[in-house]
Amino acid sequence: MNDNGCSIKVHHIGIDKKEMLQGLAKEHGTPIFVIDHEVIRKNYRDFKERLPDVQIYYAVKANSNPEIIRTLYDLGCSFDVASMPEFMLVYENIKHLPEKERLEWIYDKIIYANTIKPEETLEALNHYRPLVTFDNIEELKKIKKFAPQAGLVLRLRVPNTGSMVELSSKFGVDPGDAVDIIEKAIEMRLTVEGLSFHVGSQCTNFENYVQALEISANVISEVETRTGEKIGLLDIGGGFPVKYHHSVKSIRTLAQLLNEEFERLLPSDIQIMAEPGRFLVANACTVVAKVVGKAFRDGKPCYYINDGVYHTYSGQVFDHCIYPVLSFKEGDTQISAVFGPTCDAFDTITLSAELPELEIGDLVYSENIGAYSHASSTYFNGFPPAKVVHINK
Ligand SMILES: *Cc1c(COP(=O)(O)O)cnc(C)c1O
Repeated sequence: MNDNGCSIKVHHIGIDKKEMLQGLAKEHGTPIFVIDHEVIRKNYRDFKERLPDVQIYYAVKANSNPEIIRTLYDLGCSFDVASMPEFMLVYENIKHLPEKERLEWIYDKIIYANTIKPEETLEALNHYRPLVTFDNIEELKKIKKFAPQAGLVLRLRVPNTGSMVELSSKFGVDPGDAVDIIEKAIEMRLTVEGLSFHVGSQCTNFENYVQALEISANVISEVETRTGEKIGLLDIGGGFPVKYHHSVKSIRTLAQLLNEEFERLLPSDIQIMAEPGRFLVANACTVVAKVVGKAFRDGKPCYYINDGVYHTYSGQVFDHCIYPVLSFKEGDTQISAVFGPTCDAFDTITLSAELPELEIGDLVYSENIGAYSHASSTYFNGFPPAKVVHINK
């Protein structure tokens, strides 16, 4: 955790979209979590167009909705999973394939990118055989015992400076120990396919990518010098930032930098992959909730809505992302508090929304809420996660 949490810039949506959201709320009730599949397809195509040499593995944890996985599967996307249930969500799409084809698809298109795996999971992975990541000796020993057939990817610890969500305190081998551990894996007759890293989620400091690529390039050449083995694959992880604010530089700028650095630092025949999560789904989803209570406290109007931080707004806790609550109504605004539905004061979405006067039954919405939101929603206090509504599927 760090204090680079983002607060999404408010912008005004078109009348068409407003009417569409209100219509869906009328049809389905509230709260609803609206997923626009056309936006996901556009994000995928943008990424692919800007980084044509990179194979895209969607990080399922950002939003594991099965229909999102289906849409990306249909586009030819590959997948990053981090648990057996996530693996099975992807597997659902290929289970009809003949066994040989299915196993080839898995080895080419799934990476199990959680460096820590329970023994039972490794046994299952030995059967299905996706790529798996690791970053320590104890994991290597477990892999040798329970999943000796796996293709291994060593995760490096790289700078996460300024990223909204920091990951380097938990994952990645120190680069200085990387060649030793690869030598060890080779001695154990395991298959080392490549290296990976993650610069931290919502990485707006692109220098992190440059440093991570430099670190990787050094490890690649030292492995070759010391063992004679070639590293054939580099996984550049996630972190691709979403334009929550105008100040976030576009994917075009990042892609240009990455393409230059690939050329400068990496062997020309290396296979490059990436694991974007947030980038593919964040701006594809909108939540619509209803005002179910109203009070006046601490000198301001307080609205109680039927979604909150234990639910779709959970990203405010886990993802350090603040989602403005917006009204469909026009009019003079005042500073207002917005609370979620549970009996916990922690369930506070904001103490300072700029809202016109709302009445019970009025609808509110938040945009760009597709990543790390519905996926971490709970059933706390008996309130279930928001109903999912798909559009442009
Ligand atoms: C969460 C995660 C991702 C996705 O990260 P984003 O910042 O959402 O792109 C990719 N790879 C790994 C290993 C992750 O844990």
